[in-house]
Amino acid sequence: MNLILLGPPGAGKGTQAQRLVDRLKVPQISTGDLLRAAVREGTDLGKQAKEYMERGELVPDSIVVGMLEERIKADDCTPGCILDGFPRAVSQAEALAGVFSGLGRALDHVVSIEVPEEELVKRLTGRRSCPRCGAMFHVMFSPPKQEGVCDKCGGELITRADDNEETIRNRISVYREQTEPLKKFYQEKGLLRPVDGTGTPQEIEKKIAEVVGQ
Ligand code: AMP
Repeated sequence: MNLILLGPPGAGKGTQAQRLVDRLKVPQISTGDLLRAAVREGTDLGKQAKEYMERGELVPDSIVVGMLEERIKADDCTPGCILDGFPRAVSQAEALAGVFSGLGRALDHVVSIEVPEEELVKRLTGRRSCPRCGAMFHVMFSPPKQEGVCDKCGGELITRADDNEETIRNRISVYREQTEPLKKFYQEKGLLRPVDGTGTPQEIEKKIAEVVGQ
């Protein structure tokens, strides 16, 4: 099954993608994670992407689309994948359609996770993540057992550089302007599955499983 998780920053795409990996047994592809890894490793791509990410803007398609295409062509994606954070603009959705058709694969569902803006800001400012294993925590809603330490792998938890209020507001407005038009794009193709993204991660997972028929 090929699935897109669409939603503003803080909607819970990463959290739900990890749960769907276990349920559907297909890998998660997060362009944000791929880009952060490139920035950490100091690759040419990472150097080019860094300033856009720090401002909360979209990294140009010339960087992101090739990165995504290379990942999606890997063997582990043959049974399907869960796309988290891609596409983020109509141009990327069109590029993705080309990649899928070239591989003889098709998109099954686009799950749009809906969360009000003030809730997003609350979620993002308290967010902590583990750069080693990708686990996510929240200082109030799901704190780790030991402050600053990942429950899963013992790694040191960090606050993402772009999880400050100014950048968060910018990321949300970039979402409204550039990414939200994708809802209409996929609705017209009969692929859009809106899901209420408020509630516990378990409740939201259940709703997603229902709309994708799992
Ligand atoms: P995320 O982890 O999905 O919230 O992404 C963090 C940042 O990485 C975004 O604010 C963008 O700067 C960049 N990014 C991630 N995915 C994309 C994408 N598909 N297109 C452009 N920029 C992206």
